[in-house]
Amino acid sequence: MMKFEKGDAETQTVDVGGGCVFGGPRLVIIAGPCTVEDRAQTLEIAAAVKEAGASMLRGGAYKPRTSPYAFQGLHEEGLDILAEARANTGLPVVTEVLESADLAKVAAVADMLQIGSRNMHNSVLLQAAGRTGKPVFLKRGMSARIEEFLLAAEYVLETGNERIVLCERGIRTFETVTRFTLDLSAVPLLKQRTWIPVAVDPSHGTGMTSLVPPMACAAVACGADAVMVEVHCCPDKALCDGDQSETPELFYRMVKELRTLASAIGRTL
Ligand code: PEP
Ligand code: MN
Repeated sequence: MMKFEKGDAETQTVDVGGGCVFGGPRLVIIAGPCTVEDRAQTLEIAAAVKEAGASMLRGGAYKPRTSPYAFQGLHEEGLDILAEARANTGLPVVTEVLESADLAKVAAVADMLQIGSRNMHNSVLLQAAGRTGKPVFLKRGMSARIEEFLLAAEYVLETGNERIVLCERGIRTFETVTRFTLDLSAVPLLKQRTWIPVAVDPSHGTGMTSLVPPMACAAVACGADAVMVEVHCCPDKALCDGDQSETPELFYRMVKELRTLASAIGRTL
């Protein structure tokens, strides 16, 4: 039997510190910029999302970009800024690690290591991340089947690290109006197959700000334990993914909606 298989087990909780627990009755809302652009931008967004009710801060210091000419992230400087944002807000931090060589640096700051969609198939990185003992936030490969996604998780579990969260973030289909097709059926399916908590990222999953709140609500309604969204104070000026970023005001309204929804389904926020 694979370690991810549910059997008779309930969803296991993953505690990342700062009062943030995945897989319990309380929903986890992860919010922050796509990328750490500079100190002022990140600290401002971190304060705003904390105020609006986020439970965790996101932000990339190492960015997997499609074009080599696009902004690649601030790297170590970005990690320092994230550490400062955590100190200011108390929010635990999840940030992406792109390669094993960066693991020690990223793990020294991150409360949770994000493995991005493009690296879901990188079994060596999955094992190395697992061996740090840090919680791992594993995003679904954009062309990965559920079975492949679960086997990627198995690479982490097999190291003895059981603190992992799976994130549905949209898959490639024939549709081009949206950036990806958010596969929400993955949520109840994963909840049935595994004890690992499940998150949904409607920002990358749709690529459109206007679709983020309704799909975040849909994710919670179908059983997601967490939602990850991108927030930027000036989406028009964002260096990355402005088209799918919420302003703090929009984010605040979305959290209010999610709170109402949570109470309707016996959860809290
Ligand atoms: C991200 O969340 O920063 C990101 C790059 O997402 P994905 O790996 O899902 O494309
Ligand atoms: Mn992004």
